[in-house]
Amino acid sequence: MYPAHGEDATSLLRHADVAMYVAKRSGDGYAVYTAELDQHSPQRLALLGELRQAIDRNDLVLHYQPKVALDTGRLVGVEALVRWRRADGVLVAPDQFIPLAEQTGLIRPLTRRVLDQALRQTWAWRQAGLELTVAVNLSMRDLHDPELPAALEHMLRKWEATPDCLLLEITESGLMSEPTRALETAVRLASTGVRLAIDDFGTGYSSLAYLKRLPVAELKIDKSFVGTMARDEGDATIVRSTIGLAHDLGLSVVAEGVEDQATWDLLGLLGCDVAQGYYLSQPTPASEFVQWLGPRSPQNRWLPAAA
Ligand code: C2E
Ligand code: MG
Ligand code: MG
Repeated sequence: MYPAHGEDATSLLRHADVAMYVAKRSGDGYAVYTAELDQHSPQRLALLGELRQAIDRNDLVLHYQPKVALDTGRLVGVEALVRWRRADGVLVAPDQFIPLAEQTGLIRPLTRRVLDQALRQTWAWRQAGLELTVAVNLSMRDLHDPELPAALEHMLRKWEATPDCLLLEITESGLMSEPTRALETAVRLASTGVRLAIDDFGTGYSSLAYLKRLPVAELKIDKSFVGTMARDEGDATIVRSTIGLAHDLGLSVVAEGVEDQATWDLLGLLGCDVAQGYYLSQPTPASEFVQWLGPRSPQNRWLPAAA
């Protein structure tokens, strides 16, 4: 608000940006600028500088979490989850820097780094005789990047990877923030042959008509329903209906956030296709993932340790 929040366009815009950052973080959808909010600004700038450097130097580490078929117990793929290894060795979780990357355009180089690293990993696994599909998370901003499909094709060639090595996860809320544009990019990405998945399903507001038009192969039910479904009948109902809906649309269903045997068993009864969660494994570095896999191979039946 002029002149209370700034006397020229530059400071008004800068302060509006501070408020926008706070609004996005709070989840309320709005924030009014105050000087207190601005105190975070120098901190934010420092963080931004560090993150930019981290992307340049590739201080990003990928951890992998297995996805296991509920009926056969087979490993069907892994999800790559990014962490930032700071100079002091501390690993920073994605929630701490992905939003900042999204707000500042750094998400573009970050996504390319992650894609490149994930595809390089599938190449290394292939050399070791392991054919694995890796899932990479895209941000909604990536859906506004017209050069991403071409960059993706380039990386697939570079790592001698066929498109079925890769799955791209897009959150439901990301898709719905600009449905028309997201649909266009999704169609272009899918035309490379790479499969798409809807992540965190149940937390956004997609219409069935829209879902039907999206070229997606997989639907991931958000962990907020899965985590409590063995105790909460309402959540179990949501999961059961979502499985039915996804199957009617011809999609494979993944339950994320499976933390115990009761949930694993219930998902099996409900006809869910794939499970992912701490019950199977935490996300781990590639080296530890191979240990987790042990003498098992994707052709073998994988059983949870407790089963
Ligand atoms: P997501 O894609 O939905 O990933 C699943 C998150 O749930 C991961 O958190 C994972 O560690 C966590 N998780 C897995 N199993 C369980 C479980 O049994 N219980 C619980 N409570 N949590 C479980 P993480 O690694 O902290 O990632 C958080 C989010 O950050 C991801 O959610 C994804 O939206 C985003 N993200 C991660 N890596 C990337 C990336 O490379 N690019 C982009 N754009 N976003 C990423
Ligand atoms: Mg995901
Ligand atoms: Mg998710």
